[in-house]
Amino acid sequence: MLVHICCSVDSHFFLQRLKEDFPDEKLTGFFYDPNIHPYSEYRLRLLDVQRSCKKLGVALVEGEYDYERWLAAVKGYELEPEKGARCEICFDRRFEVSAKMARKLGEKRMTTTLLVSPKKSWEQLLKTGRRFAKEYGVEFVPVDYRSGGGTQMQQQISKKERLYRQDYCGCLFGLVQQREQQGKPADELFSPLCGSVLPGSIEERLRMYEKRLELEEEGRGYRIVRQKFLNYRLKLGWVRQKKETLPSYILPYSTMKRRYTKGRVEEQSEGIGWFNREEIRLITLERYNEIAQSAYESVSELLYAPMPSETDLKVRESVGLGLWDLSPLIVLERIPEGNLEIFIESEIYPDVREKLVVL
Ligand code: SF4
Repeated sequence: MLVHICCSVDSHFFLQRLKEDFPDEKLTGFFYDPNIHPYSEYRLRLLDVQRSCKKLGVALVEGEYDYERWLAAVKGYELEPEKGARCEICFDRRFEVSAKMARKLGEKRMTTTLLVSPKKSWEQLLKTGRRFAKEYGVEFVPVDYRSGGGTQMQQQISKKERLYRQDYCGCLFGLVQQREQQGKPADELFSPLCGSVLPGSIEERLRMYEKRLELEEEGRGYRIVRQKFLNYRLKLGWVRQKKETLPSYILPYSTMKRRYTKGRVEEQSEGIGWFNREEIRLITLERYNEIAQSAYESVSELLYAPMPSETDLKVRESVGLGLWDLSPLIVLERIPEGNLEIFIESEIYPDVREKLVVL
């Protein structure tokens, strides 16, 4: 039987139950989820499904991440709510490819772990599953593992097995809607060009879950704990003088009441300049290098290959901007004389991140 898999939280419990109910059936997992956005989240969910299938002894096939084809399929339905028309198309796409794969592999039956998700419409899944199974000459197996306390059991297992528990369905549109309802920025969509790993980001989580696999392979103990913290994202920022943009690097937690200001440096000493508006401090690249123990030759170099956020926080602290201080700190090649224009659009918000504690 080919089992279309959406995520480990659904698949681990679902596969366990399938193995009990179909002891003579050889199960093959099929991870085909091009709806998942961004790609780092796709990789994270796949990583955890690989771990789960390995534990259960189930072979796993990865489908193609044909995201653009998925986007084209749901075009025009972006604003639909969850369980609406966009989800129906999303199931169509995933089930059709799964049914084709089942036929290609010579499987007689197919099913999907989406059936166990309490957030999905059972009727929608059944309708789509049956339709495509029939079209490709396989049997759709509509098992119900939600009822009879199944959902509670699934939650217990997911905790016990320390599975990665995502907090959105998967696609860009569902994510944006969900974050709007929660009044939270969709920080999953921030992806710096320089590729740096931001605090509380999917990339940070991906690294952590990769690390935990290493620990498991080495037989070492660990815990995954959740922590509340104040997160930060810089959306846009620049420094200009006489209409020319100066190369600048804005450190984390730089916040301005009004996004734009105009002023000048009132005082400077040892590579630090005190600006006369918005409590802004400017720092020369030379001084930054001294504190961060780095060797950047230009601010552009720093911009495209920055230090980890922890180092930037240490730099802030070294110039007197410790915990709770949200004054802007900006690295420039030198402290300029004369008037400057500064623009910073950023967001500060309470967030939760997962941390790996090695025992
Ligand atoms: S909300 Fe979920 S099921 Fe609906 S379209 Fe997005 S990824 Fe697919």
